Amino acid sequence: MNPLFADLPTSIFAHMSALAAEHQAINLGQGFPDFGWPEDVLERAANEVRSGSNQYAPMRGLPELRQAVIDHYRQHQRIDYEVDEVTITSGATEALASAIMALVSPGDEVLLFQPLYDAYVPLVRRAGGVPRFVRLTPPDWRITNEAIAAAVTERTRLLIFNNPHNPTARLFGEEELRIIANVCVRHDLIALTDEVWEHIVFDGRPFVPLAAMPGMRERTVKVGSAGKIFSLTGWKVGWIAAPEELALPISKAHQYMTFATPPNLQAGVAYGLGKEDGYYRSMRGGFEAARDAMASALNQAGFAVLPAEGTYFASVDLAASGIGADDVSFCERAVREAGVAAIPVSAFYEEEPVRSVVRLCFAKQPETISGGLERLRAARALFTRS
Ligand code: PMP
Ligand code: GLN
Repeated sequence: MNPLFADLPTSIFAHMSALAAEHQAINLGQGFPDFGWPEDVLERAANEVRSGSNQYAPMRGLPELRQAVIDHYRQHQRIDYEVDEVTITSGATEALASAIMALVSPGDEVLLFQPLYDAYVPLVRRAGGVPRFVRLTPPDWRITNEAIAAAVTERTRLLIFNNPHNPTARLFGEEELRIIANVCVRHDLIALTDEVWEHIVFDGRPFVPLAAMPGMRERTVKVGSAGKIFSLTGWKVGWIAAPEELALPISKAHQYMTFATPPNLQAGVAYGLGKEDGYYRSMRGGFEAARDAMASALNQAGFAVLPAEGTYFASVDLAASGIGADDVSFCERAVREAGVAAIPVSAFYEEEPVRSVVRLCFAKQPETISGGLERLRAARALFTRS
């Protein structure tokens, strides 16, 4: 048995969702919406299940979906890909796994930003890579030149970057993208950019893909996911878009990991990616309204809320909310004693965790948010009663 995986804990998302089910808690932990999916995309996939193919899809994806990804990025992000640069995967998670397996050789150093999505580090280690961390801290979670310079060495090959960022809900802007692009170009690094939240951005902020920065198109592997674009996290349809010399080895890894992704769901996504701008505006508007509802209810309940520029997540700072406990103690008691599940942000650190921040998913209907908030008030009282 390989201890790299055998010794890992159960993912914090699975752990908290299981506790939520056990305690009949309102689940504001794992990031999934309880509203917002487009009926016509469901309809299209359902028709494909009944009357389309239910046999293996082409290994690199349905031609119509690969083309839809290209058209989508050209229209929404003014970035051009060719068909040989796109491979469809079983979710962004498989895209990340295939890319890491294909691009990392034993001994390569990989630059990562903490807090980080939980899949990155186990996959890098399993590929024989050596993770090096840039540590971001609240309240502003800013990326600086100095912090990156301290983590890059002559053995660094790959940088993994997530924007908009889970769990901090930051949308890194042009200044920070420039810092990252400069380091990649200067040290000849490949950038693996996890951009699954690219459409979930608020307050009219524009999303800029890392591949659009000078010198980055030829060295960037971009990862996307239909799960977030269509509020259908269970579908697990994702993709990579990258220069052909990177896309080809990644597709070889993909062919031995899952080989192909369900054709009917791919057809639904291909249809959905062509939806008009109004869909994207109203989808964003729905989540922005949910964010505002959650933030104002949290404020009223005495929680200090950190800004959420994108994603489905808002975070609270426990210390600034008058709660002395650390994030894990707060979340464990909140789910067991107050019936509400949240995610401790320390779970997203490999080294020197920040222990005072708790992540909440606001992508919920008003009843879920108000019910969850009542219980969060009760959770807060567990720690603030004298
Ligand atoms: N990367 C990030 C940053 C995520 O937040 C998520 C899921 N929330 C994923 C990857 C996984 O995406 P998928 O469900 O498409 O595998
Ligand atoms: N990405 C989701 C989150 O951050 C969870 C994905 C998972 O459960 N693996 O909550």
